[in-house]
Amino acid sequence: MATRSCREKAQKLNEQHQLILSKLLREEDNKYCADCEAKGPRWASWNIGVFICIRCAGIHRNLGVHISRVKSVNLDQWTAEQIQCMQDMGNTKARLLYEANLPENFRRPQTDHEDRILETTAAITLLLNKGLFALCQALTMAFYVLFFFFLFLKITR
Ligand SMILES: [Zn+2]
Repeated sequence: MATRSCREKAQKLNEQHQLILSKLLREEDNKYCADCEAKGPRWASWNIGVFICIRCAGIHRNLGVHISRVKSVNLDQWTAEQIQCMQDMGNTKARLLYEANLPENFRRPQTDHEDRILETTAAITLLLNKGLFALCQALTMAFYVLFFFFLFLKITR
């Protein structure tokens, strides 16, 4: 009973967090990647407090967790603290803060259609991985069933 109510509680909290995140994403400046302005970011750096695209999420991840902590908006579980960081900051505020002293010749990284390809490739890879795992499981099961079947035949004969 206790574990079930715990699970329900966690699920409810997760739903609440998802609701807050989707509300934040509807704000004008969060509709675009904080770094490259790609439309519809689905990732975030919660310690910096920005919403970013999948490509920039990869770059952030490569910087290391001591600089940027990347999370998927809807694939990851969020803690209350992480949600708070996103609420406190957001793309507009973060830009004012972190990009206050950019040199004049700074050029924002440009997005292109590769984002979409990346997004699709990531989804396909995930599906393939899941499919392969299921297939392996099925094959292992089949192997065991056959093995014990033949063993059984040998014993009964
Ligand atoms: Zn981006």
